[in-house]
Amino acid sequence: MRLRGILLVLTLSLLCLTTLAVGKPDFNGIWVMDKSKADVIPVDHKRALDIYFVDVEGGAATLIVTPAGESVLIDTGWGGFDGRDAKRIRQAMRQAGITGIDHLVVTHYHRDHYGGVAELAGLVPIKRFYDHGKMSSLTDDPQFAERYGAYQAATKGQTTTLKPGDTIPLKSAAGAPPIKLLCVASHSAVISGGGASANPACTPDAPDEDSSDNARSVALLLKLGDFEFLNLADLSWNVSKRIICPANQIGEVDLYQVTHHGGNINNDPALLRSLRPTVAVMINGPRKGGHPDTVKWLCETPSFKALYQLHRNIQTTAEQNAPDEFIANLDEQPDESYMIMVSVDAAKRAFTVTNGRTKEGRTYQFK
Ligand SMILES: [Zn+2]
Repeated sequence: MRLRGILLVLTLSLLCLTTLAVGKPDFNGIWVMDKSKADVIPVDHKRALDIYFVDVEGGAATLIVTPAGESVLIDTGWGGFDGRDAKRIRQAMRQAGITGIDHLVVTHYHRDHYGGVAELAGLVPIKRFYDHGKMSSLTDDPQFAERYGAYQAATKGQTTTLKPGDTIPLKSAAGAPPIKLLCVASHSAVISGGGASANPACTPDAPDEDSSDNARSVALLLKLGDFEFLNLADLSWNVSKRIICPANQIGEVDLYQVTHHGGNINNDPALLRSLRPTVAVMINGPRKGGHPDTVKWLCETPSFKALYQLHRNIQTTAEQNAPDEFIANLDEQPDESYMIMVSVDAAKRAFTVTNGRTKEGRTYQFK
């Protein structure tokens, strides 16, 4: 059995590599790209859990609107560019039918994640702020004092420090299953007590230590009934490895925000084989993230059905990107800032992913 399993994995890997190498972007046989639209479920947004992956040009801004109508924004994109990212988030909020943010989580203090806080706070009301804790300096940002000062001014110093195991309080809607937003990592500490048996996906690899603020990223697991969405922000491999090894603390997920914009010092095969995502959304820019290794590793992950990208990586080949219909923004210019949207229907145990450019949706079942 063990040999058959190894042979199967080798065969799948070979098929995947072959597909990438020979230049057939449809990933036949490995990525199940269901082109029919007949099974797309009609979405009742009043009762759905909606997730909007806002295009902030290789930064991060993930808007969640719960079935009870509460909103959570994870990161705010970059500051500057005439308030571009804050305006894009406000546009997503309008589409979602909300006028304020109930919970804003800043995953870490890099400008592609929290640079837009002050500008967003100037556009829309934000009730509560969460982060990984106060910092007095950051060696990886020479302008930290200025940026952190702007953040503190926007929050008026009123922030909640998240620790692994904490939850952000959300109301469950009548008739909908319970909703839970759980912090699984923060300030380089990770959740424990979620799994006891040894995880066979673990390897003896010892990842390089990362001393940047990526390693302190707040990581969040959102559950609605049996649906699970994982957002590890830019969490470094040496920390995310402790979430899944020696025992997997969070189990498998349905939807995965590709970590660190698709970087290859994250998203390692052991992590992906432990999480077994069905669908992944990569929040990359045209020239940022979207590393070919990550695309390959996702492609090789058993259970994996589709990769969506906010942008085509214009520095790699067509075969190292998802097929066009799974990419929101194909060209660098003009940048039309299309989103990727996900609607979760717990009653039907399914979620629909829509490409904002094509308006086409595809539906995937929960595990
Ligand atoms: Zn980032």
